[in-house]
Amino acid sequence: MGRGNKRTEATSPAPAPTASPKKPKRSTPDVTDLGFLSAPVPSNQAKSRWPHRYQTKQTKATVTVTLSDGSTEEKELFQAKSHYTRAAVDGVEFELFDDAYIQSSEGEPDFIAKIVEMFQTTSGEMYICTQWFYRAKDTVIKDQDYLIDARRVFYSDIKDDNLLSCITRKAKINQLAPDMAADAREKSMASCDLYVDTMYTFPHAFSSLRKDINNLSLTDEVVETKTPDVKKPLEDSQRSEVTLLDLYCGCGAMSTGLGIGVSLLGEKIVTKWAVDFNSYACESIKYNHPNTEVRNEDAENFFILLKEWESLCKKFNVVGSKDIELEPQSSDSDESEVDDGVVVPSEGEYEVQKLLAICYGDPNQKKKTGLYFKVRWKGYGRADDTWEPIEGLSNCEERLQEFVLRGYRAKVLPLPGDVDFICGGPPCQGISGFNRFRDALAPLKDKKNHQLVVYMNIVEFLKPRYVLMENVTDILKFAKAQLTSYAVGRLVSMNYQARLGIMAAGAYGVPQCRMRFFLWGAGPTEILPQFPLPTHEALKKGVVVNEYKELIIGHGDEHGQLHKSALLGDAISDMPAVTNDTEEDEMPYDKAPSTEYQKLIRLSRKDIFGCSDAKRKDSHKSILYDHRPHKLNQDDYERVCQVPKFKGANFRNLPGVLVGPDRVVKLDETVERARCTSGKPLVPDYALSFEEGKSCKPFGRLGMDDIVATVVTRPEPHNQVLLHPNQDRVLSVRENARLQGFPDCYKLFGPVRERYMQIGNAVSFSVSMPLGYCLAKALQGAQYTTPLSLPFKFPDCLGELKSLRQEPEELIS
Ligand code: SAH
Repeated sequence: MGRGNKRTEATSPAPAPTASPKKPKRSTPDVTDLGFLSAPVPSNQAKSRWPHRYQTKQTKATVTVTLSDGSTEEKELFQAKSHYTRAAVDGVEFELFDDAYIQSSEGEPDFIAKIVEMFQTTSGEMYICTQWFYRAKDTVIKDQDYLIDARRVFYSDIKDDNLLSCITRKAKINQLAPDMAADAREKSMASCDLYVDTMYTFPHAFSSLRKDINNLSLTDEVVETKTPDVKKPLEDSQRSEVTLLDLYCGCGAMSTGLGIGVSLLGEKIVTKWAVDFNSYACESIKYNHPNTEVRNEDAENFFILLKEWESLCKKFNVVGSKDIELEPQSSDSDESEVDDGVVVPSEGEYEVQKLLAICYGDPNQKKKTGLYFKVRWKGYGRADDTWEPIEGLSNCEERLQEFVLRGYRAKVLPLPGDVDFICGGPPCQGISGFNRFRDALAPLKDKKNHQLVVYMNIVEFLKPRYVLMENVTDILKFAKAQLTSYAVGRLVSMNYQARLGIMAAGAYGVPQCRMRFFLWGAGPTEILPQFPLPTHEALKKGVVVNEYKELIIGHGDEHGQLHKSALLGDAISDMPAVTNDTEEDEMPYDKAPSTEYQKLIRLSRKDIFGCSDAKRKDSHKSILYDHRPHKLNQDDYERVCQVPKFKGANFRNLPGVLVGPDRVVKLDETVERARCTSGKPLVPDYALSFEEGKSCKPFGRLGMDDIVATVVTRPEPHNQVLLHPNQDRVLSVRENARLQGFPDCYKLFGPVRERYMQIGNAVSFSVSMPLGYCLAKALQGAQYTTPLSLPFKFPDCLGELKSLRQEPEELIS
């Protein structure tokens, strides 16, 4: 059964004229030789091949058409007297399934289509059915089409009826197979006008550019819906780890959730590398993922470093080098070594003992950017290590070679081909709704959006098998979605497949709305991962522009039964009471979990990450981390204390505030203005004027049965609802973490405001785990044309993980 999705032109993001061209008109067909050639297709054959054309004797009939994703739509179709397989236009012969240019409106380039039917209508007119090829500019790539080879077109499953006379000339379009060798590709491209290797669908099946086009020349009427075809599961020994680079990793929520998600299907992702310029975020990810190479640097410098590293590896011929012997590592192999300074160097002379680390940047902060190595000096210890520019190390090639060889073997940095999967959300502060100075005309020129370019450059260099990019949904609103177009355009130009979607964290089981945009990329011969269907009811919040509404996964679907939304109390009602002044980073739990949510989110590190590292004090013990709130200043604290303890209470409930009939607030002039102990007004002016006096957010109190809008990075109560339901404080770092689905064992580092930032920036676990599950499905060879139903819901999947983890142990015991 189809899903009954409707496609309306108005909501199509493709430029109107060519997106779904309809009956281009040519007033008087000026042709000398126009008509069908040879005999019609025998009637019984025609009726079985094109049954929708033989429904009535009327001119048109409404029929149900099945699309390539299995969805159906009602369409008014011309009815036929007979079908043909050959026709002539302007004296040129066309056969069924030939490609042709179709006349467009004045001044516009002709449309391009495959002729998939030739027929005479019941009223005697000569028609063709055209299945359109899109130019890049007619896809979501829009005005970023300069990224795509002008001869590349995209096949769609959109068909329209047009007069035979609308054909202007033949098109020679070659289909390139996804696994074609580069030279064969070149050769094929040289012998055609246009080429196609990708199918474009929008918005049904959620906008995607996929390689699974059926052989075009055989395309006939409806392309069959593919049923998931699961490849035989791999034996454990055949299964290899998927190596992951988490770019702009923050505290690592996204990659962690993805990793958990894939493990639910027995696959394994290893976050081998992570990059972030925030040192606290790096500390967090490092603690929780001790085996990850965490690089605390700017992503652009990381990109330059990757190229430098490749050159060094080439220079020293280390790739595949088994024959170069290395001296065994002495115990002083890393930076944590103790001072072994016994040799006293002669004065003024320093000798490099070994190189410890590499970076591109300005580690000495002397405004000299370049390639640097961290040097351990002979006779000196760790405290005397320095960063030296490569130019200064010209006389210690041997040390350099040794460093490169060891680094290559330990994969301290990835080379092209080493990374299977890149995930991460390049920050685009230039589009943030809060940024008033955003450059809407040339968003890519804005330095604040430059990270998107860097991200794609890294993808281009490393060529991973899969990419998953995350961003705020504003990326679809801002500057006519040019940044989205750019991201898709870059991926497609690098021969990736792409799929776009919007997911609301709340629709997957956390008590938070949080809409985010996601973009999957997959190499040409990989299966393009799907999106997961929602598992929970979610607040419908209209934060997405209309034309992209259909990207919201589950939008308009009447799919099965959804669980009730998770509520704030489900997530946090077991937390010990703390005060505005609490400064402890660790404390014991003081209550048993009272909901499934709490029980599961409190599972130990060992249960969730299978971490058998007995040395870690936290792998079994139950300590509650990060349960401390941002400390409000005295004035704010006094204000908060006076906000009553019921859901929805806010500054309007403070003394001296009047609410007019239009819901606009004002001060009660008849009473003296209430003041804090400091003398400042109890009700601050900014609260009164916020959102033109109509807002209920300043000093807003949550209820235990609330769903939080979006966990943000700054826990200020001035313009957001984040007061605890029955305590006089804002939600703590850990409470926010719970709303984002972080397991309690995921400890955070840095000052409190930094920890809030890491949580607020994170991809919700409720979303990243299902995405990981979808990736695992793709890794296992399962192909889905529509978003897939999850066999689990958050946070139950954490419990499943626990049982998966326990199996091997049970076998042993
Ligand atoms: N995906 C993460 C959240 C990342 S938020 C998660 O799920 O936890 C974006 C991160 O990008 C922030 O941590 C910020 O410090 C980092 N960042 C911003 N600009 C950067 C740059 N130029 N180079 C490296 N990191 C950057």
